[in-house]
Amino acid sequence: MERLQKILAQAGVASRRKCEELIQSGQVQVNGETVTTLGVKADPLQDVITVNGRPIRSEKKLYLMMNKPKGVITSAKDPEGRKIVSDFLPDIKERVYPVGRLDYDTEGLLLLTNDGEFANKLTHPKHHVPKTYLATVKGVPHGTALEKLAKGIKLEDGMTAPAEVEYYDVDPDSKQSTITITIHEGRNRQVRRMFDAISHPVIRLKRVRFGELGLQNLQRGKYRHLTPQEVKELL
Ligand code: URA
Repeated sequence: MERLQKILAQAGVASRRKCEELIQSGQVQVNGETVTTLGVKADPLQDVITVNGRPIRSEKKLYLMMNKPKGVITSAKDPEGRKIVSDFLPDIKERVYPVGRLDYDTEGLLLLTNDGEFANKLTHPKHHVPKTYLATVKGVPHGTALEKLAKGIKLEDGMTAPAEVEYYDVDPDSKQSTITITIHEGRNRQVRRMFDAISHPVIRLKRVRFGELGLQNLQRGKYRHLTPQEVKELL
């Protein structure tokens, strides 16, 4: 709970002094009730605070990254009752949304925020944020096949943009291999479809990098807050 004038000032309504005047002159409402005395406290996240009926922007901006496990759905609700990403954020009271999606079976770096503008910027196709995946695929693709992926390959929804592709690890018995692939687009199931197109279906897919941000040693199913510097670098 915080003093109303402080909440108003932090939301950028006006200076603390001016906010006190707004309260005293009967222009501020908490949950629909006009407050005119100065000692009143409110909860900036739970209470609806308005100035002359207009809600203030008081929600704290949150920027999180999580290491999404496989078998978790990237949406706010699942009618089938499967696990959703917010199940992994028990301490986060604010409503946060994933920035883009990872498939149910894809694991790795997922950003979450309540800053809509930030999310829109990062997912807008014109931003071309590079995203790096480790794709474990069936067999060992030939170098020429990887070159095709790097140059651009035809999918149902058109050619893919150039990508960076390289071998990461090859199984001694050649039954599977892991390839690092960086794409600059975010089409639905894009990486899986790219490897399907060269007949090396994906067995396991993990996103390890989103723009400047690496997953590093964040444990599976865990999250952390981004630093202000990391947020800045993403934009
Ligand atoms: N590409 C895919 O195929 N799946 C993802 O989850 C992300 C990128």
